[in-house]
Amino acid sequence: MDPSCGDGPLPVLGRDVSVPLVTGGEVTYAALDYAASAPALQRVWDDVAAYAPYYGSVHRGAGYLSQLSTDLFENSRTTVADFLGCRPSDEVVFTRSTTDSLNLLAGALPAECGVFVFETEHHASLLPWRHADVTVLDAPRTHAEAVETLERALAARTPHGPALVCVTGASNVTGELWPVRELAAAAHAHGARIVLDAAQLAPHHPVDIAELDVDWVAFSGHKLYAPFGSGVLAGRSDWLQTADPYLAGGGASRAVTRREDGGVDVEWHTGAARHEAGSPNVIGVYSIAAACKALTEAGFDSLVTREQRLVDAVRAGLAEVPGVRVLSLFGDDAPRVGVISFVVDGWNSSHFAAALSAEYGIGVRDGLFCAHPLVRTLLGAEPRETGECGAPEAAPGEKSLNAIRVSFGAGT
Ligand code: PLP
Repeated sequence: MDPSCGDGPLPVLGRDVSVPLVTGGEVTYAALDYAASAPALQRVWDDVAAYAPYYGSVHRGAGYLSQLSTDLFENSRTTVADFLGCRPSDEVVFTRSTTDSLNLLAGALPAECGVFVFETEHHASLLPWRHADVTVLDAPRTHAEAVETLERALAARTPHGPALVCVTGASNVTGELWPVRELAAAAHAHGARIVLDAAQLAPHHPVDIAELDVDWVAFSGHKLYAPFGSGVLAGRSDWLQTADPYLAGGGASRAVTRREDGGVDVEWHTGAARHEAGSPNVIGVYSIAAACKALTEAGFDSLVTREQRLVDAVRAGLAEVPGVRVLSLFGDDAPRVGVISFVVDGWNSSHFAAALSAEYGIGVRDGLFCAHPLVRTLLGAEPRETGECGAPEAAPGEKSLNAIRVSFGAGT
């Protein structure tokens, strides 16, 4: 990165890894694919290593190490609740990822619940609601248009049963921030609830559930500088308490009795445990809490300031390259995080990304970024058969069908 931006404020693991180049020699790897999975913070690995000797079963063991592990696991819940500014009555449910969290919530929708999403969502927040009555809203071109579009759709709904709005806080394609507080106010004014997909927002900005006045927040550990495998759904408990458990099994059940007719009666737990059946991912959960602590201690003010300088530097650099078009919904002045997607005239994006890796040791991403409708809208391209996050070839002279994404964050 631009050396004038200084060293990253938070050391990440593997910052100094050398990679071979096709041209011969080696270069220090530049990891610029944070939006997919951010390198875990060194502090997170250190915390996990310090915990390793005390590793034990949670929730069930009577031994000292089991008690200790259970405390660490449950304290992690409190750390995450603090990190998210949860209300006292909110639940923090540990999941596998944002995708998992949103699918959990989709399974907890009350009967006849309408769901409202913009076409701009990542597939994780666009698809889990397929079994509900979903309204997909057109991509807005300003924040005001986003709020107006939502208000119009909510006002038009009949009957006025329960409704949920799902919105992403920061786009995984353009990095642009969405007007979450305003959308939450609009949702609530029309009697709907709102879940914030904070997968790309939480690693870059403070997310305060009470201040934003959203009903739920979902995010993933592996984008928040923790290792893979854990995520969070935090927010209101009522829908979660009345829903069937996300997974049926031990840990979610308070009492199980064999009936005379041969069947089984179950009394399910209330609280987060209801949706956390099975042995939990203790290391994953502990890592998320460690990342939350590291980010809080580093302070988002300095992280945001530094990242904004990087965003400006990358955008200014790209503006000087002939034929580069940066993708944007809300325009150049829109507030954004360190996620920038672009196409280059005359280049197939996959070849461009492969060349950055092979010739310069720069790791970026190419494709449709699991947000097919959004990328196609931004490129003005027609749908084409492709893999889930695939990178179809454009015919000569045809518009690019996919894009290149550079993304970074704390520790870049
Ligand atoms: N939401 C957004 C905005 C994302 O960028 C992603 C992943 O890229 C997800 C949800 C899904 O996250 P995960 O794959 O960790 O479930």
